[in-house]
Amino acid sequence: MTTDGIAGLRLARLKSMPELYRKTYQRAIDGTSKAAALKAKCQDCCNWQRKEVEHCAAADCPLWPYRPYAKHPTTGKRRRKPPSGKADNRQTPPGG
Ligand code: SF4
Repeated sequence: MTTDGIAGLRLARLKSMPELYRKTYQRAIDGTSKAAALKAKCQDCCNWQRKEVEHCAAADCPLWPYRPYAKHPTTGKRRRKPPSGKADNRQTPPGG
């Protein structure tokens, strides 16, 4: 895909979303913030509905432990970090 094609796609997407979310999306596609990329992806996935992201039940999604607006299951406070022991469930490869 050409640079113009990519820019056109991004501009179209930017215009299609609620204005409130554009700044985060822009930071994400500029490549300046991984946190913004994660947030923008979850917002997009939930059709720009913050509560939907907060209550996302797709625990098998690789982004789930990191999604914005999530509350800690026991304290009810918003998480700043993924819950310990849940973000890194990689298996040791055979022989490794
Ligand atoms: S964690 Fe939930 S809201 Fe975020 S991308 Fe995955 S499924 Fe979508």
